[in-house]
Amino acid sequence: MAAVLVRYRYRMYPTVSQQQMLARAFGCARVVFNDALAAQRAAHQAGEPYITARQLSARLTHMKNDPARAWLCEVSAVVLQQALADLNAAYANFFGSVTGTRKGPKIAPPRFRSRKDSRQAIRFTANSRFKVLDSGRLRLPKVGDIEIRWSRALPSAPSSVTVIKDAAGRFFASFVVETNPEPLSQTDRACGLDLGLEHFAVLDDGTKVTAPRFFRQAEKKLSRAQKSLSRKEKGSKRREKARVQVARAHAHVKDARRDFCHKLSTQIIRENQAVYVEDLAVKGLARSFLAKSVHDAGWSTFTGMLEYKAALYGREFIRVGRFEPTSQVCSACGVKDGPKPLQVRQWTCPACGTAHDRDVNAARNIAALGRGEAQNARGGQIRPLATAAPAGEAGSRRGAA
Ligand SMILES: [Zn+2]
Repeated sequence: MAAVLVRYRYRMYPTVSQQQMLARAFGCARVVFNDALAAQRAAHQAGEPYITARQLSARLTHMKNDPARAWLCEVSAVVLQQALADLNAAYANFFGSVTGTRKGPKIAPPRFRSRKDSRQAIRFTANSRFKVLDSGRLRLPKVGDIEIRWSRALPSAPSSVTVIKDAAGRFFASFVVETNPEPLSQTDRACGLDLGLEHFAVLDDGTKVTAPRFFRQAEKKLSRAQKSLSRKEKGSKRREKARVQVARAHAHVKDARRDFCHKLSTQIIRENQAVYVEDLAVKGLARSFLAKSVHDAGWSTFTGMLEYKAALYGREFIRVGRFEPTSQVCSACGVKDGPKPLQVRQWTCPACGTAHDRDVNAARNIAALGRGEAQNARGGQIRPLATAAPAGEAGSRRGAA
């Protein structure tokens, strides 16, 4: 079995001067990324070919030799190279999603990074000689030895570390660690999952998982904070204060969600040999803008965890696409019963008379589709399961919850 890449994230507590060095590194990485992106766009507009990674790297060397940009030499060279690597990866994902070689939802082309992005990130690879010291501090080149709270042990030596500053001003170190899969003993249970608004997840055996109360409370608090922010005058001190409150509420929701998703995904992977989930890209749900951001982020965090844990524990994980809405087809006889408004939670199939719970029926249809896809895949090939660490960790996402 191929090795699995897993992320481990810890809170970091840099001193004031270390924060200044990190701010400089974030800034330099941003400049390098944006400069390369501008060059790519200019080349594209001029009808010239795509600038290769090697050419971008040569441009960077040239930039560093420019006395006007000598400050680029004050941060780790690896951080700057990784900023270019991020851009190359973003373009590769974009092209792959346009040409269809990359599965999943369509991806937007890379955009410029801003110092106002809610999330700043830089990456140090093994080349940079970052080091976890015996004292427990993390040594980052040209930054210093930073205090870390080790909430759990790293299982092996990390191959890279991404340093993140979130909108609430907190710092994190996110390590990528290669671990060997530890297959759990086989079981013959499989499970189809319907992710929704009413319940966080509904299983095809009828189990309904409600998001914990604190999770929903945190969402409400976030919603209130955002409303309050939108009422404040731009550029005012009160607005800045409200902005920090929104960022804190976001951070709180994110932490609560991560914790909840970890527990639920571990339980489902332990109990089932195969897990089938509807592809979120095709799951259309009527929802408000806020609900959309909160729920979509929750679902993708959750399915991402299911995917890497499946790889880690020797389970099967399949995202099923669908041709017909799973809530409109009878899971007992397969008759399509037409669209039903969202408030219809129960219905009886006119063809076979089976009484359905809307969400459980959807989960059963997903399970059936998943079993079908799995069977088709046995003969041929299906997506590799063993790349677990989500890509693009060092990218900056504006307003990501
Ligand atoms: Zn039926």
